[in-house]
Amino acid sequence: MRTLKVALLGGGNVGAQVARILIEDGDALAARTGARLQLIGIAVRNVNAGRDVELPQELFTTDAETLVKDADLVIELMGGIEPARTLILSALRNGACVVTGNKALLAQDGPTLYEEADRAGVQLSYEAAVAGAIPILRLIRDSLAGDRITRVLGIVNGTTNFILDQMDSTGAQFADALAEAQRLGYAEADPTADVEGHDAAAKAAILASLSFHTRFALENVHCEGISSVSAADIAAAKDAGFVIKLLAIAEKLSDADSDGGAGVSVRVHPTLLPREHPLAAVRGAFNAVFIEAENAGELMFYGQGAGGTPTASAVLGDLVSAARRLVLGGPGRTETTTGHVPALPIDAAITSYYIGLDVADQPGVLARIAQLFAEHGVSIEIMRQTIHRDAESNVESAELRIVTHRASEAALAATVEAVKGLDVINSVTSVLRVEGV
Ligand code: NAP
Repeated sequence: MRTLKVALLGGGNVGAQVARILIEDGDALAARTGARLQLIGIAVRNVNAGRDVELPQELFTTDAETLVKDADLVIELMGGIEPARTLILSALRNGACVVTGNKALLAQDGPTLYEEADRAGVQLSYEAAVAGAIPILRLIRDSLAGDRITRVLGIVNGTTNFILDQMDSTGAQFADALAEAQRLGYAEADPTADVEGHDAAAKAAILASLSFHTRFALENVHCEGISSVSAADIAAAKDAGFVIKLLAIAEKLSDADSDGGAGVSVRVHPTLLPREHPLAAVRGAFNAVFIEAENAGELMFYGQGAGGTPTASAVLGDLVSAARRLVLGGPGRTETTTGHVPALPIDAAITSYYIGLDVADQPGVLARIAQLFAEHGVSIEIMRQTIHRDAESNVESAELRIVTHRASEAALAATVEAVKGLDVINSVTSVLRVEGV
């Protein structure tokens, strides 16, 4: 099997996780790629700095220029403009494929990098630059390539979504919600880039460029942050059935829609959304992108927008895609079936259950049922009882609704059989599986 040399620039939050996965999952990545991905070095500022992940010390170097020269694939996760820009350009000129998560650099000088990649005939990919783990760029670029996107609405900055969600759920003022975000590590000590919308604007430019097949730069993006959103604004919105979200919006307007003529409006600003809109349900520091396309209609993608490991997932996806191209000269294997994972019978399924029981209204019934569940290793999360009186017979019965913690199908089936045998049970009215709790 061919070996491809991978140079990693940056061993911080994301870089260290990428290095860990490259080392730990080497065999699986080789099976999916058709080549062994050999990590040849990690360029950092300080080779002796403490790191969250234990990695072989001999991989660390401060000589990024030399590292790049020897690589087939270069992953840039240093951040900032220089030396990232020069190193990426040098890698592309050497014929290496480059993967980066550097939205600031792409927003400022993307066209120079894209043109160099085109000239060199190599792949430059940047899935991690927008919405962290959500593979939204590939989806827009590849899966929706046969459609016409009309509008993209994105919650693409987790910090501001966390702050607005805090304000919405607790009534807090902006400053207090920001302090809480900083305390929990969702906001930086200097939160300007997040709260003033600059980070979301860089991502809006990238989303708009891919969605509308046109290069939009940062100066094309109208940008307003959330620092002036007050608790009173949030309360008034709530009263009217809305939630306030910082949205990155890229929208195609026709002559008829817009005074400025046909074009694309790219903007970032606090926006009221009806509470029933799918994006309104995106809580905490999560990200989501909502797309409207002429033929596909509405689509939504949700996930973690930041964090070392989630972002590393997007980086690795790009890396495997680039490596496949190097090995096979195309997108490569569309599916890999090198795993040998058995398909399990339904008895082995693990899930929560909702169970409805019609029971006699007698003292001690709940305790007997709970004990039976415990004996079968099924633990109860919620148990609710409602009393009914039959109008004709005047006999009281109780309806019990039970939601269990996750248990195996086999354990649940045995529990239900045992419950049916209890003299206080009139009937088992329903057994349904529960997910997402
Ligand atoms: P980080 O934790 O600050 O790590 C940066 C790494 O780059 C560090 O290892 C640092 O070395 C190294 N570095 C910085 N400047 C360097 C230089 N001049 N020469 C050599 N090494 C240098 O950053 P991160 O959070 O991993 O983010 C990396 C990139 O991913 C950024 O472009 C960011 O925007 C993007 N991104 C991050 C996230 C996230 O959740 N963190 C999400 C999406 C995208 P030392 O370790 O020696 O300081």
